[in-house]
This record gives sequence, C-alpha cells and structure tokens, in this order.
Amino acid sequence: MTCSQFNAALAAWQQLLAAEQVVIDTPSIRKAETATFATTSSVLAVLYPERDQLAACLNIAKQYKQQLYTISSGKNWGYGSQVPVSSDSVIVNLSRLKRITNYDKKQGVVTVEAGVTQAELAQFLLEQGDKHWMDCTGSSASCSVVGNTVERGFGHTAYGEHVKYVCGIEVMLASGQVIKTGLHRFNDAKAAGVYQAGIGPALDGLFFQSNLGIVLSITLWLMPKPECFLAFYISTEQDILEQLVESLCQLKRQGYLTSLPHIANAFRVLPGLQQFPADVAAKQIYPLPEQELSRLKNQWQVGRWNVSGALYGTKGQIKLAKAALKTHCRRFKKTQLNFISDTLLSLIEKYQWLLSKLLRRDMARVLAVLKPVHMMMQGKPSDNFLASAYWRMPTLPDNDFKLDQDGVGLIWCAVVAPADGQCARNIETIVSRVLTSFGFEAGITFTLLNERCLDAVISIGFNRQSNDGIDWDSKALACRRQLYEQLLKEGFFPYRLDINMTQFMSEYSSLEYENVLQLLKNTFDTDNILSPGRYIATQ
Ligand SMILES: Cc1cc2nc3c(=O)[nH]c(=O)nc-3n(C[C@H](O)[C@H](O)[C@H](O)COP(=O)(O)OP(=O)(O)OC[C@H]3O[C@@H](n4cnc5c(N)ncnc54)[C@H](O)[C@@H]3O)c2cc1C
Repeated sequence: MTCSQFNAALAAWQQLLAAEQVVIDTPSIRKAETATFATTSSVLAVLYPERDQLAACLNIAKQYKQQLYTISSGKNWGYGSQVPVSSDSVIVNLSRLKRITNYDKKQGVVTVEAGVTQAELAQFLLEQGDKHWMDCTGSSASCSVVGNTVERGFGHTAYGEHVKYVCGIEVMLASGQVIKTGLHRFNDAKAAGVYQAGIGPALDGLFFQSNLGIVLSITLWLMPKPECFLAFYISTEQDILEQLVESLCQLKRQGYLTSLPHIANAFRVLPGLQQFPADVAAKQIYPLPEQELSRLKNQWQVGRWNVSGALYGTKGQIKLAKAALKTHCRRFKKTQLNFISDTLLSLIEKYQWLLSKLLRRDMARVLAVLKPVHMMMQGKPSDNFLASAYWRMPTLPDNDFKLDQDGVGLIWCAVVAPADGQCARNIETIVSRVLTSFGFEAGITFTLLNERCLDAVISIGFNRQSNDGIDWDSKALACRRQLYEQLLKEGFFPYRLDINMTQFMSEYSSLEYENVLQLLKNTFDTDNILSPGRYIATQ
C-alpha cells in the first residue's frame, strides 16, 4: 500500500460514508494510536460504517490494498486497546451495529450485533422482564459483548466462559460475503439458537481470536434469573492458595459452585479501594514495601487472599452450597467467610455511616467496590472497576475513565493451567519474582474457569505519564517479556494475547499448525487486508 493508494481509498470511503463516519483529524488519530502500554503502529483513519455499508468498505480496501483493523468498541485495555497490530492500518469500528434481535424468552437465547455494549444488553434484558441475566466482565459497561466474546473473555457467573455459550455467529469475509455458522446457515432451522454444532465441520472457532473475518453478530445463551442469589467472600491472611484452589475446585466438581470464583491477592484488591500511597511514591520506593502493604491491608481489612463468588439456584440448592462452603472454610485458620444477600447489601448501604464509625473504615469506598461486584455477579455491568487501573496514577478521574488518554499503564498477561493448587502456586511464585524485580506490585487473580482449568490474570500496572524519571513503559515491556518466558518455560501458556505478542508466541508453536493458519489466511483473505498480524503471525 502506498500513500496514493490510501488517499484513493480514503476518497472512495468519503464518497460512500457520511463525514462523521470517516475520521482523520489528528487528535482522534492520536487517540486511536494510544494504548495502555507503548505501541508503534500508526493509524491512517477510523471508519464507522453501518452494517449495510461494510461490504462496500471492504471492497474499497481490497481495491487499494489498504489493510484494516477490526474493533467492536475498542476497549481492549491492557491488551492493546484499539491499536492495530500493523502500522498504517485503517480502523473499522463497528460500534454502529446496534441491533439486539431474536430474544427467545423460553430458551434464553439472544442475538447481538458487534456494537451492542454490556450496558445495552443488560438494559434490554431488564426491559424484557428480567428473566435472564447476561454474564458481564469487570471492564466497562460500554464494552462490546461481541468484542469481548471473540477475544474469549470471561466473567463471573455460571455462563462466565463466554465462548462456551455462543450458539452461532454471523461473519463477513474479506470478500464481503456473509456466512452464518451452526444451523443458522439453513433457512428457518428451528434449533439454530439452541444447537451449537450444526452439521459437519463447525467453522465458529475460526473466527474467535482471529483475523479471518469480521464478526457481525453472535447468538448467545443467557443464564435464567435464579430463584435465589447469594454472594460470598472469603478473606484470609494465611498463605493458603493451594488449599483455596483445591477446595473451590472440589465444590465445583461436586456441583455446589456453578459460578467462576475469583481468588485475588491483596495487590489486585487494594487498587479498587485506593491508589498507590503518595508519600511512598514521593520517595520512589517501588514496588510497595511489605510494611506499607500490611498497613493498607489492615486499614481496608483486605486479606492476603480474597475470594469472590456467588451461589445461584433454588433456596434448597443455596442452602446446601452455603453449608458446603462453610465446612470447607472451617478447615482454614483465621479465615473469614461472609455471605451477602440483596437484603444485607441494602442494610449495609443504609447504615454505612454507622458502620464507618464502628469499623473505622471508609464504607463509602468499600461499597463503591462491593456493590458493583454484587451487581456484576447478577449480570449488571458498571464502570466502577476501571478505577483499579489507576493504582499508580496520582489522581482518579471523577467518572469518565479514559485509560489510554489518562496515561494509565496496564498490561495484562493471562495464562491457563490445570485447576490445581500446586500449579497456582508455581504461577504465583514466578509472577512475584518477576514483577517485583522490575518494580511492579505482583497483582494476580486466579479464576476457576471450570472444575479442570484455572486462569491466572496478572496485571502490570504503572503510570505512563509519571515524572519520576523512570522509563516505566520500557520496564513494563521488559517485564512482560521476561514473565512470558518464565511462564512458558514452566508450561503455562496464555489464553489471550495483547497486540504485540502474536509473533513471539508463534515461535513456540508447531510449524505444521502455523502453516495451516497461513493457508487459512491466504484462503479467507487473499489480499491480507483484515487485521494483519492479529493472532495469525505474518510470514
Ligand atoms: C479494570 C479492567 C477490568 C477488566 N476486566 C475484564 C474481565 O473481567 N474479563 C475480560 O475478559 N476482560 C476484562 N478486561 C479487558 C478488556 O477491557 C475487555 O475484555 C473488553 O471487553 C475488550 O474490549 P472490547 O469489548 O471493546 O473489544 P474490542 O476492543 O472491540 O475487541 C477486542 C479484539 O477483538 C477483535 N475483534 C473485535 N471485534 C471484532 C469483530 N467484530 N470481528 C472480529 N474481530 C473482532 C480485535 O482483535 C480486537 O482487538 C478488563 C480491563 C480493565 C481495564
């Protein structure tokens, strides 16, 4: 692609789309080129097509060999935000694709287009009678459901592994053709929304974490609103990670726990409650010293390990699960298990002033985390958790969290492992050693995705605009590399990649598999215009 080719493509897009759908002004382009870590890819323009304009947009891109980069809402913070993998790309932002269709109240099935946000789906379900809950993430309410799902993102409820609950997708190929997977490819197949496999080879998997097509919509299964809901929290000062993992796994295997419990260390919980202490930052002591950590844990009553989860079901099921959880927790010394119902949460809210006095804690700030977690586990998203990304920032925005523009530094590294206490410990040991050596707090959350597999999400948090003379951007990238190398050496591989890591990971992959991926890319996208380098390495 040459400059004149881009100019010709731009002129064609400007003919096709309205002025506000083709963005080329410098401030907007700078925004689109900014993530929560250092990146180098340049953006030439951002397109906001309607669904029926997309094929023509692709045609223009093909004609002028202009590479595109697909995003749904572009809030992939910590993994690259909306920044393309390849330089000189034009971003295709699908946020105008807003339809929510085919809601089947009996089966709990709905189809959402790429631009539908978590907040919009949650609101839609509420308006339809609150019969089903979506599974939402701890990211923004304005994140796209499709964007997260194609990334194989996960949340908290029993439907937390999002891709598992997809029953058909609609994809536009680089040619502009649209295909529907599963039984959706047949007209009027009654089971299209309820039978995942379809007939013959299933193509769905080709389009998750992929650059083989543009996902227009997905059909999703939703969790029926349960008769009863009870949130639970375990907090312990004991270093009993192995036992926690094993206990929670056993409860999952036995069917007591259907949700995806999250086990977070103090460095993942504290950033939700406050920022890095200014006096320690002034002395440039990084990471936070042990003594300070103890003080903050005491102040906020945060444990070394902190579990959040929820029980869903009938009254009887919840009673049994509650008893089983209590039995397990009784085995651990100095470990608190608390259950919070909707009623109890309302009471805490009502008497927060009294509790603040009695417990000597800022209950408003505690509630600012507790309530959104409670609501999130009921499928109601919020922006509240974004505050935690500002841990190393000197100030917190009032409510408008623009992580990329605010200079928030964040890299997520997320690896999967067998649901096994020793594996969790091995990961934690590596993470602590590597992050600490680079001056980062070793924040880590283990999520039991199911009874067999856990996911460890590690956060490298920093301030990209810090004026302390330390090059945090370079440190973070070096830390990420070393962390990956050490985790991979021990057999812990990522479930998801940020925009810089595809090439790196392909070095660890089998040549045969990489060759097949290249073959697929050449077949589906002959001109290599769709998100080059995203999940399929460029040769
Ligand atoms: C504080 C905080 C908490 C977070 N919590 C979670 C969490 O609990 N769970 C979680 O999973 N993530 C979490 N995230 C990470 C991230 O913000 C979310 O995963 C978010 O949903 C991804 O951004 P998005 O939905 O805007 O997707 P996008 O940025 O639009 O898309 C993500 C990627 O998917 C691909 N893509 C997007 N749309 C399409 C399409 N239509 N067709 C083909 N490919 C496409 C592209 O490669 C794109 O880069 C968190 C982030 C922060 C800062």
